[in-house]
Amino acid sequence: MSVTDAEIATKSAAMRPYENRRTFAIISHPDAGKTTLTEKLLLSGGAIRQAGQVRARGERRRTRSDWMKIEQERGISVSSSVMTFERDGIIFNLLDTPGHEDFSEDTYRTLTAVDAAIMVIDAAKGIETQTRKLFEVCRLRDIPIITFINKIDREGRHPLEALDEIQEALALDVTPMTWPVGMGSDFFGVYDWKSKEFLTSDAGRGGPFNVVKPVSGLEDEALTGTVFDRVMDELNENVELGGEAYPPFDREAFLEGHMTPVFFGSALRDYGVEELIRFIATFGPAPHSQQATGRKILPDEDKVTGFVFKVQANMDPKHRDRIAFVRLCSGTFRRGMKLKHVRAGKSIAVAAPIFFFAEERELAETAYPGDVIGVPNHGQLRVGDTLTEGEEIHVTGLPAFAPEVLRRVRLTDTMRVKQMRQGLEDLAEEGLVQIFKPTIGSNWIVGVVGILQLDVVIERLKQEYATEIGFDAVQYNTARWVEADSELELRKFLETNRANVALDRDDKPVFLFKSAWEVTYIGEKNPDIRFRETREIV
Ligand code: GDP
Repeated sequence: MSVTDAEIATKSAAMRPYENRRTFAIISHPDAGKTTLTEKLLLSGGAIRQAGQVRARGERRRTRSDWMKIEQERGISVSSSVMTFERDGIIFNLLDTPGHEDFSEDTYRTLTAVDAAIMVIDAAKGIETQTRKLFEVCRLRDIPIITFINKIDREGRHPLEALDEIQEALALDVTPMTWPVGMGSDFFGVYDWKSKEFLTSDAGRGGPFNVVKPVSGLEDEALTGTVFDRVMDELNENVELGGEAYPPFDREAFLEGHMTPVFFGSALRDYGVEELIRFIATFGPAPHSQQATGRKILPDEDKVTGFVFKVQANMDPKHRDRIAFVRLCSGTFRRGMKLKHVRAGKSIAVAAPIFFFAEERELAETAYPGDVIGVPNHGQLRVGDTLTEGEEIHVTGLPAFAPEVLRRVRLTDTMRVKQMRQGLEDLAEEGLVQIFKPTIGSNWIVGVVGILQLDVVIERLKQEYATEIGFDAVQYNTARWVEADSELELRKFLETNRANVALDRDDKPVFLFKSAWEVTYIGEKNPDIRFRETREIV
């Protein structure tokens, strides 16, 4: 990319405010390097001043006694849910996604609030399970993906093999933007074949990135004079074969989610980070339209709309306050605005919205589409809610997932039923757990996608609601939301199967299944009934 910072700055000055927003997430399998890359992006954007801060903050949290401690215990970070930084007139909103797969529901919803994603792949391991799952979510929404093949300073797969794997496994066109100049013990840097630059180290082979050498091509002395011949031979071959085998970068195809540009790099040694950030600044995408009931909401509309993609309860345990993370879809938001909370049919004054920066929070005076504001509230706002300047419209596409683990709640102290129910309702509103109320019997059943979520529920009920609970096994192992075209058919089905039916927190019926086999069997026996694995939260 031969784009200079000055060019980006000039271009961004002529844009409408939302057009210079880049709202994105990083998806990866644990250990591929997401934290390291996040940190390097924040450093490069001037949002933090020294390396180690992203991790250090996590450690500091462990020793704090306020809500940060709870945050640490629950294993999900709040302060880093959104990190905003500015560089050369471009505002980057980086939305954090919990790395552990047991919290993937949270990640899936966060992905509804981004315009692009960086997929980090470990050069040695290739595409791993979690990367693949998250990628599928991005594909459902046609979110453009930028691929970063990390850790090329270690031995990794052959670059062409890595590119082929992405192309085949993900059925996506790939287009290499940079090439590794050797890997592992032969690692000399990165070759940006578009801008003809050799990114290397003045410390020589294996050193951290600190020099950009403009080159005329692969015969340039700057390359051939320092890089081993065998590495040059391979680079020549890669560039030649790669140039023939993969299509050139096509911005439309990228924005439509059909093509992924691939950057090779090493987050740890700073290679490729600069390329990545410039690419996002230059090629976007800017905030996209948002599908809602009846129509699409466009970012250049005058009126404000936004939706809640995440809620964090009890950030201060002394007050039952919560922060709803709202992604703005259209209009210019100003502090103090009264917005309609569509689900409740009420108006709320947004008096103290918050912007999240890497190191601090600030009152959000003005915000544009693509921005994320934190709205403190006392429980009115929940995941999936839409805020508007009066229009009756719901943003769609925020999924609830069929739980894969079901447990019956056991209360140690029966005097605390009320607190337990309140606590579970609150955590369900955050999206941490789903609750099902069986038609027969009074003990609630909870459902989660990942087993670790259960530990968090126990811990948080103890900490925040002073209520001790445990979980008992149930004979069920999954649930499906039940629907039918005919109301009568549906009622008949629910009545006949009362023993296996429960209501979710919105009183939508679900069927509790004992096995995957039963899902198929019952499905085949009841062709008029739809058993849904996900439900839109509206
Ligand atoms: P996450 O779990 O995806 O957030 O991964 P981390 O950023 O915590 O990285 C996992 C491990 O890989 C850490 O020990 C990092 O220091 C290491 N790591 C990250 N990026 C690189 C890289 O480019 N090269 C090498 N050699 N190690 C890296």
